[in-house]
Amino acid sequence: MSGVKALLQRQSKQIQDQSGAASLPFFIIFEYAKDAIETMTDQALMNTYGTRAATLVKGDGAWLWDADGNRYLDALSGIAVCGLGHSHPAVAKAVAEQATTLTHCSNFFTIPNQELLAEKLCTASGMDNVFFGNSGAEANEAAIKMARLHGRKKGIKLPTVLVMDNAFHGRTLATLSASGGRRVQAGFEPLVRGFARAIFDDMESLTTVADNNASICAIFVEPIQGEGGIRVASPEYLQQLRAFCDQRGWLLMLDEVQTGNGRTGKYFYYQHSGIMPDVVTTSKGLGNGVPIGACLAHGEAAELMKPGNHGSTFGGNPLACAAALATITTLQDENLSARAEALGDRIMAGFRTALAGVEHVVDIRGKGCMIGIELNKPCKSLFPAAMAAGLIINVTADSVIRLLPSFIMTDDEADQVVAILAPLIKDFTQD
Ligand SMILES: *Cc1c(COP(=O)(O)O)cnc(C)c1O
Repeated sequence: MSGVKALLQRQSKQIQDQSGAASLPFFIIFEYAKDAIETMTDQALMNTYGTRAATLVKGDGAWLWDADGNRYLDALSGIAVCGLGHSHPAVAKAVAEQATTLTHCSNFFTIPNQELLAEKLCTASGMDNVFFGNSGAEANEAAIKMARLHGRKKGIKLPTVLVMDNAFHGRTLATLSASGGRRVQAGFEPLVRGFARAIFDDMESLTTVADNNASICAIFVEPIQGEGGIRVASPEYLQQLRAFCDQRGWLLMLDEVQTGNGRTGKYFYYQHSGIMPDVVTTSKGLGNGVPIGACLAHGEAAELMKPGNHGSTFGGNPLACAAALATITTLQDENLSARAEALGDRIMAGFRTALAGVEHVVDIRGKGCMIGIELNKPCKSLFPAAMAAGLIINVTADSVIRLLPSFIMTDDEADQVVAILAPLIKDFTQD
């Protein structure tokens, strides 16, 4: 704040000098103070996100408002986070009540909300137990540590996790090392050792890598690659991976940070395939906006972690678990994962009709409320174009428009997404 003060003093001295006035009216000083504080706030943030698109100050259901009062239809949901939409009353109530009861106490103590949430997650997924962290990357760190414990148990000196091209698992050192895009790794070498890489959705590549590396003890894969461009694997891929892992005594670990929590029509995506993973991680939609992550284990994998192996100060605290409990309860009571699937089908069908025959549109794909529209050229500029038209979207992997709407969108709102975006895509592809 002393920096702000100094800047303020400099600036007010400058206008005094310019105007020749001995003192300035208060409102002018106030305007300068506001500017100075805004500039300082901007400069006080580490520049990891570049220029921000807008200042959003309010959300309600599928809608967001900026500081100037403009309204936006939200087809991003804070990147697959707010599946129940913004400011959901059940989540807001649970958070408010828990905040005035007990926000945090530490994992030295029994946390009833944590046990309740773990039970609900296990019932919803068929998994056996849960470790709670605060984010997707942390959930994935837990999974990677479990793979190493599993490998050591098998007598492997350098336990290695097989990960995929184009994968995204997070920004911590281990998870960026597991990620497939050089973009997240460049500049942060040395990378964490113990990862081998195969081509996504390609059993031939997987087999080649596996046959040449005796240290592999687990596969870690997103069932739909999210950041990688909504790449949906073939329907039999997960079954093939399950069989492969069974043959070799490997753990099958799924990163459902983005696909989980009802987004694709089941609680977890693997439930479409009939298989059980050994480990599954999730986070984004788990607390509808309150930070929480989870690593779930099944069968023998559920016995890998022992007291002292892992921990988190905040992980699974009463407040975060209250939010997640309200989220999963609402999701189940209102059968919103089925709604997510129907809504996604409607939106995809809408785009297939509206964009039929449009040159440059390569593919429209996805599952439930996880939708990708791939163009044959980079299309980042569609994001500001959509914002100007009152719609929030995302572009990932350079040329894939990614839509991650909330499951509480009405049919009419879903149709508006298509009605606003399809003409923008047509215009863009004609340039
Ligand atoms: C977002 C994401 C992560 C990272 O989650 P953070 O909460 O940002 O750490 C990991 N894996 C997948 C598949 C994701 O979509």
